[in-house]
Amino acid sequence: MARVLVVMMPAEGHINPTLGIIKELIENGDEVVYCCTEKYRTKIEALGAQFKAYSFNEATLLNNPDMKPFEIKHPYQFLYMVLKKIIQRFIPDVLNLIENETYDYLIFDSLIGWGGQILGEKLGIPAVCSTTTFVFVEPLGFGNKNQLKDDDEEVKKLYNGIIEMSQQLASQFNVAVPSLSELSGHPGQLKIVYTSRYFQPMGDKLDESFVFTGPSITPRKDAPSFAKESLHAVYKQAVYISMGTILNKDLDFYRLCFTAFGDLPVQFILSSGKDTDLEPIADLIPDNFIIRPYLPQLEVLQGVDAFLTHAGMNSTSEALYYNVPLVMLPLTSDQPRVAGRVQELGAGVIVDKNNLTPDVLRNAVLEVLGNASYKEHAEVIGKTLRDAGGYKQAAMAIQNFMGNRSLSATPISSHE
Ligand code: UDP
Repeated sequence: MARVLVVMMPAEGHINPTLGIIKELIENGDEVVYCCTEKYRTKIEALGAQFKAYSFNEATLLNNPDMKPFEIKHPYQFLYMVLKKIIQRFIPDVLNLIENETYDYLIFDSLIGWGGQILGEKLGIPAVCSTTTFVFVEPLGFGNKNQLKDDDEEVKKLYNGIIEMSQQLASQFNVAVPSLSELSGHPGQLKIVYTSRYFQPMGDKLDESFVFTGPSITPRKDAPSFAKESLHAVYKQAVYISMGTILNKDLDFYRLCFTAFGDLPVQFILSSGKDTDLEPIADLIPDNFIIRPYLPQLEVLQGVDAFLTHAGMNSTSEALYYNVPLVMLPLTSDQPRVAGRVQELGAGVIVDKNNLTPDVLRNAVLEVLGNASYKEHAEVIGKTLRDAGGYKQAAMAIQNFMGNRSLSATPISSHE
């Protein structure tokens, strides 16, 4: 069977969706070599994959305002960041790791963008993009909502930076210079997208190389245990709060939640983050709050009536998969887009981070808890996500595609 190279960025939201697929590929006979940072070794080896660690400084990804700008005002900002902070830094590391090795196909993280195409081309193998957010259907995907206009000086500088960087990288890796649309498009002969065509904005405009499989819901062996009964031990309704695994250290936000929700007859359960020190606000925690650094999110979601989230793609999809309506506080990257889509389909409400008060937060939560239509719309999206087939469907699509390719011996083109 095939030997598969997987290259992922070191972020839970990017790795988690691949776990079920990798397990399935291995069970179906493929041999998988997975590249990521050392932190994820145990998780990956437990699946039966071989692991190779590259030395990417995670702080640059997670804590650097360039990498996680609080607000993306123009798509060029994002493109420049991918070229400079991701492709330039880590593609050479990955190429070193796999020197003189041969593979049959590659699965790469959508965040690597054009870097996935470079890897596929250097190895002479087809590439599958693991797409952890919505696909950009319009060129550069941001429509006319950019806060900076194309003729703004800052944007012109970014454009020139992108052209320069892409030429420099193309020469460094000895590949063709990409066009702007190649840089901003979706490389890979096959694109696995962890949502449904219905939930994806303009999903009907995307061709069959985009395979929508819904979120990858698999048992998570490393998740802590949690007694679900405690969610309804005192109150009838329960609300889960989590800002994901990266933007979860804002104590002011937690303080705001305590003020907003402390006197409601509702059970709140909050994931505060593995590296968040709650000591400064420990005395303020209301009685109706259960707080843990990390929770088995999939289990918790099955026991709550609403979810206050940053609208990370994974958290959002997981909640909708379990029919949970959302109150969304999008902060950065794809979150405003994801939240916008949920609100558009009636499954939740957005609260504006620039206008955040205890009253705003409290009213939003009460609105979603008190109005059944949010739950009904969450159920509509949830059904499409469950019907999409999950990781089994994803693994089957990949293996069918690769099997058919080798049967028809399609020549590998570097710019498919
Ligand atoms: N997660 C979890 N328990 C927690 C917090 C987060 O299992 O206490 C998982 C969650 O289920 C999701 C991922 O971490 O799969 C977070 O991904 P998301 O895209 O929502 O946000 P990010 O962390 O990338 O900002």
